[in-house]
Amino acid sequence: MNSQIQYHRRRLADVAAALRLARTQTSREQGPRAQLAQHQQRRLDTVVRHAATHSPYYRRWFDQTGALGDGPVQLQRLPVLDKSLLMEHFDELVCDPRLRRDPLLEWVGKLTRDQLYLGRYRVMVTSGSSGRPGLFVYDPAGWRSTCAQILRASGWAGLGPSLPRQRLALLGGAAPSHVSRQGAATMAVGLHRTLRLPVTLPLPRLVQELNQFQPTFLHVYPSVAMWLAEEQQAGRLQVAPQMVVTIGELRTPEMTRRLQDAFGVHPFNAYGCTEGLWGSECEHHQGIHLFEDTTLVENVDADGQPVPAGQPGARLLVTNLYNRVQPLLRLEVTDLVTLGPDPCRCGRTLVRASTIHGRSDDVLSLPAGDGGRVAVHPLQFALLTRDPKVREFQVVQDGPVLRILVVPNQAAAAGTGALEAHLGQAVARQLRGLGVQDPQVTVERRPKLPRSAGGKLKLVIADPASRPVHSNAR
Ligand SMILES: [Zn+2]
Repeated sequence: MNSQIQYHRRRLADVAAALRLARTQTSREQGPRAQLAQHQQRRLDTVVRHAATHSPYYRRWFDQTGALGDGPVQLQRLPVLDKSLLMEHFDELVCDPRLRRDPLLEWVGKLTRDQLYLGRYRVMVTSGSSGRPGLFVYDPAGWRSTCAQILRASGWAGLGPSLPRQRLALLGGAAPSHVSRQGAATMAVGLHRTLRLPVTLPLPRLVQELNQFQPTFLHVYPSVAMWLAEEQQAGRLQVAPQMVVTIGELRTPEMTRRLQDAFGVHPFNAYGCTEGLWGSECEHHQGIHLFEDTTLVENVDADGQPVPAGQPGARLLVTNLYNRVQPLLRLEVTDLVTLGPDPCRCGRTLVRASTIHGRSDDVLSLPAGDGGRVAVHPLQFALLTRDPKVREFQVVQDGPVLRILVVPNQAAAAGTGALEAHLGQAVARQLRGLGVQDPQVTVERRPKLPRSAGGKLKLVIADPASRPVHSNAR
């Protein structure tokens, strides 16, 4: 009982602090870039000097290189961290010697809700598109910063504390070790009336629950939003949310249009990763503003060199400016992003990810007519989301063959092979247009598709053996 009370107190304190922090963060959004840079440098100095003192890994690195002088820390001089290094050296990277990788992995696997480790730390796992798990530990300050970013992103979409309270439906179904589930659990202190639904429930049940609850806000993965759009248009789902927010998966322009048609609102798209980088579209919907005041982001090419604004990168290097217990400095995140060079009409000076193309692990490498290889981005399969008969799909690379697994919508479910033939031809045509030699495409109907522990759907599963060299883990 005592620990229950302690937990609730802690959660209230986290939310109160996050609300304050979100207000401070929001007040900085329109400031000049120079002011933002000063703030970033102060935070960077703080987290790096802390790491140099308390993390055996960084202490050794700074001792060996002498790279930490008395002046401001230079980000580009710090070593890049990837997920393999993070996991391999976990025990010496963290700044609290009581945190050990293997016991933590075992503990987090048994979580039933968002319990705190040692009464203090939040522990989260990412499945990672390459199948390697990532283990993340947040201290109270790091976690409050994350919660502030979640509140801030929701606030941009119009969700704030209000009377009467908003009715928020969160569809996720994430495991308790997933950041979305921990965020929702922390925030469940009564700011909004909240309905949490796991996406693993049968669709008719989701529809029934939503009809009953009548959400004013719908927070959902893009793929699940597509199911709901179909249900809404068929008249089985009858809700009138003021806003729909999607997060967690690639959302194509066609999906955005379908959501608009079904719900009559322009849905917001948000971005968040356990590593600490968060962001959201503003009311102009011209890319996702990244919350750079809490997390530094570098867009780099396959060789780790900085990519100029307006050009796509091969991965991001993310530096978390708040979490001290597990220094996340220049950590590789495999998102393929183009950062927009132009200021936004909304007046916010935070950089925009004008396009998020998916993850580099999801880029297919296919043989080209000229003997080379063609890199095919997941967005090339958007034509499948354009087809109203397709509820959802997944592309699986199987040696030389691309297998397209399709869940048809209810109206098309009883159809013959015409849908398969049509989709197969359309995808093959698209691939030929990109220069792929003799694309081999098969289309298979499925009643449902497998989802990750977080409930997400991967649009593309690349065959690791056919991956382009640059995305192989070093
Ligand atoms: Zn904007």
